[in-house]
Amino acid sequence: RNNTEVWKKWPKANLSPNARVVLERRYLKQENDQKCETPEVMFYRVASVIAGAEEKYGKNPQEIEDLTKEFYTVMANLEFMPNSPTLMNAGRDLGQLSACFVLPVGDSMEDIFDALKHAAIIHKSGGGTGFNFSRLRQKNSMVRSTGGVASGPVSFMKVFNAATEAVKQGGTRRGANMGILRIDHPDILEFISCKEDNRDINNFNVSVAVTESFMKAVENDTEYDLIDPHSGKSAGKLPAKQVFAKIVDHAWRNGEPGMIFIDRMNRDNPTPHIGVIEATNPCGEQPLLPNEACNLGSINLKLMAAEKDGKTVIDWERLGYVTRLATRFLDDVIDINQYPLPVIEEMVKGNRKIGLGVMGFADLMILLQTSYISEESTAFAEKIMEFIRTESRIESQRLAKERGTFPNYQGSIYDGKIELRNATLTTVAPTGTISMICGASSGVEPLFAVAYTKTVMDGTALIEVNPLFEDYAHKYGFYSKELMSKIAERGNVFGLPEVPEWVQKVFVTAQEISPEWHIRIQAAFQKYTDNAVSKTINFANTATCEDVAEAFRLAFELGCKGITVYRDGSREQQVLSAGTKE
Ligand code: UDP
Repeated sequence: RNNTEVWKKWPKANLSPNARVVLERRYLKQENDQKCETPEVMFYRVASVIAGAEEKYGKNPQEIEDLTKEFYTVMANLEFMPNSPTLMNAGRDLGQLSACFVLPVGDSMEDIFDALKHAAIIHKSGGGTGFNFSRLRQKNSMVRSTGGVASGPVSFMKVFNAATEAVKQGGTRRGANMGILRIDHPDILEFISCKEDNRDINNFNVSVAVTESFMKAVENDTEYDLIDPHSGKSAGKLPAKQVFAKIVDHAWRNGEPGMIFIDRMNRDNPTPHIGVIEATNPCGEQPLLPNEACNLGSINLKLMAAEKDGKTVIDWERLGYVTRLATRFLDDVIDINQYPLPVIEEMVKGNRKIGLGVMGFADLMILLQTSYISEESTAFAEKIMEFIRTESRIESQRLAKERGTFPNYQGSIYDGKIELRNATLTTVAPTGTISMICGASSGVEPLFAVAYTKTVMDGTALIEVNPLFEDYAHKYGFYSKELMSKIAERGNVFGLPEVPEWVQKVFVTAQEISPEWHIRIQAAFQKYTDNAVSKTINFANTATCEDVAEAFRLAFELGCKGITVYRDGSREQQVLSAGTKE
């Protein structure tokens, strides 16, 4: 079984040059000063370590080798990819395999700095941390032991931010944070504007945890109570509509804060007898209990299309197989994972949450000649996610029979209904890096651009055209070099007379999509997702505050668990910018 050459007879990884660069920079294990492992060796390293977890369930060496081959194959085929920490750390010294953590922050110096220390340890291993700072007493309240006054949640966030900045220099990837404050915390107004001067809190995404009673108060234009976190007593009132408008105004200005719908998250909390959900991981897709972590993985939908009778259709059989295998993989990760803290290990092994999701949804829609903004697309979104959840549950049930239900099963929302190995199964992650490795559109996002110009090191400009668009252009006879550079200049094909109208619809990009459609896609995926869905709701630069307010209300109405907005051009540094000329 220790024959590390065995993978040589297995399929090779079909990686693009871009994907190879991403892997070489961070993911491939350095064997000596110059040489890295190959991507195939990396996939073998990950597959064999994760399959090895099943030794303790009585699997013999041959069974483990067979399973290793199955795990290897879906990764080398780029059909399934675990989250980055699993790729980077499995079988290596760090051994920390989860992307998402939530840490509690208590209202004492000891508790605050314990959380900070734990966050640093997690960041070092490539994990992201979420915190709810609502337990901290408000600014200017009394500190009994010193006779001084408290500096409040926002000032401590700056401390966490500075620590993250320092750790990120030495870590494997940028440590990311989510900072959350409840809408009824007395410092809420300061929190809403805390990123106005972006620099002090640049390693945080911030979100306001809003309650359903707050949303009702906004609707009815009434006041709501602030609660002193220390005494639990009322600490004054604020007009809900004005606070909502302030959130909207800041989100309009630079995309932050986002909102999380905390009551809805707790209604879906599978283990309310173990704890209350108070926060999510940095990108918002994973609500967790304090001290809980979750490992994610995503199926590449771009590769789940097949030709049948001259038509492109979804290969449900393959999707089912990959879903079940990925579920087993993610469950095995829980056993082999090296946890940064004993309390986290205990919590994770009690609930055994996993987060299986998708990437390449936009690509799949293109292959099916379906516009992202159509009733068919939201119907596909629901159907695909429902199918994945069903197949994942079938596998989790099978694992429960073989290995037992998750230890906190008794008293959970599944108790007496369905025996599962995992308290949650599905999550839609952003797949920022792993979608690049797989050459797929990220998560459930639409295309960002149809073509763009990339300036390479020596200053020459290269035109990158979406390969699916190039296929379309050749197939439907409108390909020309001039057209491709024209598209690269503007990013999209909207209104171009050379491109047939129906093709324009199929290749719709993020900026052309109305916020309402972005939200409808998010809501369609959320319907069958146990955890949450990572999605950016894009706005044109010309959008108004009222447009943003409308989007927040719609996300709430349609059952989303949170919302993050971004208005084009509203941040100084925009990582991606479609086209070269605007
Ligand atoms: N994450 C992080 N730092 C990063 C990117 C991601 O801590 O630079 C964490 C964060 O919790 C995020 C999660 O990883 O919500 C999943 O992000 P993504 O799907 O983009 O990660 P990938 O596996 O593609 O690297």
